[in-house]
Amino acid sequence: MQTIFETTQDWLNFDRDHLWHPYTSMNKPLPCYPVVAAQGAYLKLADGSSLIDGMSSWWSAIHGYNHPKLNAAVSEQIGKMSHVMFGGIAHQPAAELGARLVSITPAPLKHVFFADSGSIAIEVALKMALQYWQSTGRSQKTKFLTVRGGYHGDPFSCMSVGDPENGQHGLFPHAIAEQIFVSRPKSSFDGPWDPSDIDEFEAAISKNNNGVAAVILEPIVQGAGGMHFYHPEFLKQVRELCDHYEVLLILDEIATGFGRTGKMFACEHAEVIPDILCIGKALTGGMMTLAATLATSKVAMGISQGKVPALMHGPTFMANPLACAVSCASIDVLLDTGLDCQYSDGWQKNIERISFQLNKLLAAKDHQSVEDVRILGAIGVVEMAAAVDVAKIQALFVERGVWIRPFGKLVYVMPPYIITDAQLKELCGSIVEVIGEL
Ligand SMILES: *Cc1c(COP(=O)(O)O)cnc(C)c1O
Repeated sequence: MQTIFETTQDWLNFDRDHLWHPYTSMNKPLPCYPVVAAQGAYLKLADGSSLIDGMSSWWSAIHGYNHPKLNAAVSEQIGKMSHVMFGGIAHQPAAELGARLVSITPAPLKHVFFADSGSIAIEVALKMALQYWQSTGRSQKTKFLTVRGGYHGDPFSCMSVGDPENGQHGLFPHAIAEQIFVSRPKSSFDGPWDPSDIDEFEAAISKNNNGVAAVILEPIVQGAGGMHFYHPEFLKQVRELCDHYEVLLILDEIATGFGRTGKMFACEHAEVIPDILCIGKALTGGMMTLAATLATSKVAMGISQGKVPALMHGPTFMANPLACAVSCASIDVLLDTGLDCQYSDGWQKNIERISFQLNKLLAAKDHQSVEDVRILGAIGVVEMAAAVDVAKIQALFVERGVWIRPFGKLVYVMPPYIITDAQLKELCGSIVEVIGEL
């Protein structure tokens, strides 16, 4: 790449004046830190300093950065072809990845649609559900039922099933389809199950089932909607009620998939199998964008028996070969218990190790400004009593050599799985220290 900027400050100035960053304004953007390289669990800044990465680039870089096997998979594939259309063309990287996904997800999920981002995987899942009921003669089933506090992406279809309060419903009242919401479960993941937690959901599904195509949920962990971990019994009972009232169940594992919660997929905590499953984020090991929507044969064959038997979706970069190849490598690294794996007794043991360290090191519960500390798998959350000043707190973290990006009241980490105990100690130590200063 030829450069047109002379100094780091030059391109940072251009960035500030011309480039949108996620959820920021053009005239009062939050400060951005210039990253020039990344290696293992570190992000390297332009001034030569390094930050321990607590975010895995939003759940995606599970093996850290610059992983030799992932890099090799991209190089090998790029020498053959970076991309070809998927319409009327098949290629081995897609088949290799499809076979891996069918094998590691619950057995009934056998049919794979490759999308180009998580949000599109959700869009496709919603469309599959609607088309399933159209094809099977119940086209009045057009609504989606979900719980508050969810997040499924920023496009309009995804927003419609995201939390109505922090999900921008108020900003675009006429553009967002009306769906059915009930309270999210209050029973925490490892606390006692309160049987009344299902009441509102049960009332809603029994009243509306003739018009409801599907229930959509993030299993066990609600991510961007508040980092809330809920009881597996809720998911179990939702599955039973969906079966009873003939409503499909869509699970959004875009954040939770690929081991993050201690199970390969979070639905395994409840031994629940969805009709439609969405995955993304860590699918490529954070190397590039790819997502997938998997469906059972009931859904796939149901759609195919309709007047319009084709599933009506087909993104330009569907099943991009580079992304498929690197996803295969990422899954193989995750499953590998062999020689080049740093933690050779398997990925579950490694997540247990991180979980144990987070429990030990994120000891901030007694601090007056902290409302709650919760840990599940390789996710650590410190919920503050009040929203934090992101620019200020982020500067304090960068000073201490760690990368953490809080939102609202939540200071949270989901580090790459290759993070060492010593790095975790620094990461968590910085959180406890910075919170002490607020
Ligand atoms: C990130 C996320 C999405 C959206 O994925 P994108 O790749 O950002 O479009 C959807 N659902 C959940 C649970 C997510 O965490």
